[in-house]
Amino acid sequence: MTETAPITAIGNALIVGGGIGGMAAALALAARGVSVELIDIDPDWRVYGAGITITGPTLRAYQRLGMVEDIAREGAIVAGSSMFLFNGMHMRDLDEPPIEEGLPATGGIMRPVLHRLMQQRIEAAGIPVRLGVTVDTLANRDGGVDVMVSDGTAGRYDLVIGADSVRSRVRELAFPHMGDAVRTGQACWRVSMKKPPTLERGEMFFGHRYMVGITRCGADAIYMWLLTPHAEGQDRLEGEELVAQMKANLADFGGNAGWVRDSMSAADWVNYRPLEAKIQPRPWSDGRIVLLGDAVHATTPHLASGAGMAVESALVLAEELARAASAEDALLAYEERRYERCRDVVETSVSIGAAQLAGRPGEEIGGIMGAALHRLAGPF
Ligand SMILES: Cc1cc2nc3c(=O)[nH]c(=O)nc-3n(C[C@H](O)[C@H](O)[C@H](O)COP(=O)(O)OP(=O)(O)OC[C@H]3O[C@@H](n4cnc5c(N)ncnc54)[C@H](O)[C@@H]3O)c2cc1C
Repeated sequence: MTETAPITAIGNALIVGGGIGGMAAALALAARGVSVELIDIDPDWRVYGAGITITGPTLRAYQRLGMVEDIAREGAIVAGSSMFLFNGMHMRDLDEPPIEEGLPATGGIMRPVLHRLMQQRIEAAGIPVRLGVTVDTLANRDGGVDVMVSDGTAGRYDLVIGADSVRSRVRELAFPHMGDAVRTGQACWRVSMKKPPTLERGEMFFGHRYMVGITRCGADAIYMWLLTPHAEGQDRLEGEELVAQMKANLADFGGNAGWVRDSMSAADWVNYRPLEAKIQPRPWSDGRIVLLGDAVHATTPHLASGAGMAVESALVLAEELARAASAEDALLAYEERRYERCRDVVETSVSIGAAQLAGRPGEEIGGIMGAALHRLAGPF
């Protein structure tokens, strides 16, 4: 961990949700001396088997957690990506210079591997974790929060952080001015499997009404994503039917996208998910309860930045808690620093999806993406 000025504005904190954002917040706060507890509703504390793209800004955020070497060792680091026409014809290579000196350019990792690496850090930091539980009630009182947990235990905390994702229970309990994420009309099909023999870096396929990308996630691991319009009623597609439908959607694709189509099977991890997003209206905190990650800035994968935003939000929250005279000031400063950047990611991601649905040309979509990634390389 870098920058570990102690936090004195609070003594203890409960983090609800042990995903990417919740674990990052737990590590960032514990490193600054806060007594942190983490709870997660999943009794097995798992994550689904997809891969994840780790962009330059996301690597920068993970560097502050001291985890870039872990990601490089157990995932994949690449110098950039290659663009292809959907039929496999090579268009050009895009080198992505590191956004900070000493940082790798970009990469990918399997989600279960990233989850394990973060869980190991939580364990090493001695952070207590309770699984299979959620919050039943939250009440701000006298500069703290009284919490009833679903296992019947009660607690009092100086701060409660809701990092419990897109269907956040904390948001539902404490933020009546917010609402559910909204479906965007697109869906993401994903497969995780062995690496095509000729793939070395990220690959993106343009010029088709469907968009495809492949992210290298390890020495012999990739995940491939395919974006299509979402047909209502298709949410429960599974097993052989799911694989057959994904292969049919990839029928026109060549190069390594074609290789993946021909090589994938129901034995691989395959998933279909309608996309949803929402930048929640301010304020993001109420008394001593605050939200971060998909609970408050849920986005689509178009800029591959949701996880990076969650880690950044965790780091900024810890930084502001260390800097401010009171927890209330820190929560306001956190929101002030995070709102515009997260709004940009969510709204630009949604607009890229809308442009794809409208059949806008690849150059136009690439231009929106490039400009957004350039903005994200700026400080957070
Ligand atoms: C199809 C798709 C592809 C994506 N690809 C990328 C990518 O390539 N790169 C990238 O940076 N981002 C990507 N994202 C976004 C990224 O996955 C999310 O932004 C990120 O996981 C958010 O982290 P989080 O901690 O807020 O939520 P999560 O990682 O979802 O974690 C939430 C945790 O809260 C727990 N929880 C849920 N409800 C409760 C409850 N009531 N009580 C207690 N615990 C609870 C869950 O069990 C889970 O452990 C993608 C998203 C989608 C939909």
